[in-house]
Amino acid sequence: MTDLPARRLLLVHAHPDDESINNGATMALYAAQGARVTLVTCTRGEEGEVIPPELAHLVADRDDTLGDHRIGELAAAMKELGVTDHRFLGGPGRFRDSGMMGAEQNHRPGAFWNTDVDEAAGYLVEVIRSVRPQVLVTYDPDGGYGHPDHIQAHRVAMRAADLAADPAYRSGLGAPHAIDKIYWNRVPRSVAEQAFARLRSTAPDAFPGIAAIDDVPGVVNDTRITTEIDGAAHAAAKTAAMRAHRTQIAVDGPFFALSNDLGQPVFTTEYYELVRGTSGAPAGAREHDLFTGVPGVSGASGTEDVPGAESGARS
Ligand SMILES: [Zn+2]
Repeated sequence: MTDLPARRLLLVHAHPDDESINNGATMALYAAQGARVTLVTCTRGEEGEVIPPELAHLVADRDDTLGDHRIGELAAAMKELGVTDHRFLGGPGRFRDSGMMGAEQNHRPGAFWNTDVDEAAGYLVEVIRSVRPQVLVTYDPDGGYGHPDHIQAHRVAMRAADLAADPAYRSGLGAPHAIDKIYWNRVPRSVAEQAFARLRSTAPDAFPGIAAIDDVPGVVNDTRITTEIDGAAHAAAKTAAMRAHRTQIAVDGPFFALSNDLGQPVFTTEYYELVRGTSGAPAGAREHDLFTGVPGVSGASGTEDVPGAESGARS
């Protein structure tokens, strides 16, 4: 394992674009610090709507080529974030976007929502045992806002974390590995309220409408937030990554809209709830680093702990 950087972060998302919206600043920050950042995306987002009129033909009920197109958008977004390890769960197209909750696509063969959790988790166990992340980031049990693929991504990620640590589970997938800390994506309600107030006062006409706070995934009372990552230095990378998902996202300054044309804020401080593992912050305080308290990992600069690194090797 001496070829792995000291700090290793795994993010599990449902569709291309979710990673940039939720965690773009965090991913850019850790990638810049030399941490291994691994993104696993569960579907290609084939059922998405398309914003640019000239690309409308890609959608599922016309050419049905949006999935392939979004592979390219995701690759471009990862380039903006400096993330080189991005994969699709089971390979591109193994699981298909299930559409919105209640859609007939939910029950189609191959739809992610229609997939056995343990079967999908097996693919993620292989990644976990290979990359050996100390930190996992995914959604809460509601998937942040109830989309079936987001709920399923939560279930698969949590199940895979357990299975990866179980020595009795499929030894052929690699040596067992226990993840130290698991986080769910969050937005504190007070921060969302302030950001929407700013949107209303400074850019009321940027988009045809303005989203409701509860349209933002993962909004919870502030008391649930354990961790905040200040990504201000990587705000430009985050918005560039969001712009790369051109079929899905329209960015206007510090605001953006999805295909529903409802404006919402881009958060460059990103928030998390630690749900497994021990907080590295004093009681009552928030963490400012996802790796705080992880054994064998120290400080925010990150690269000095690389196992097996020789002095001068990075000169
Ligand atoms: Zn999504």
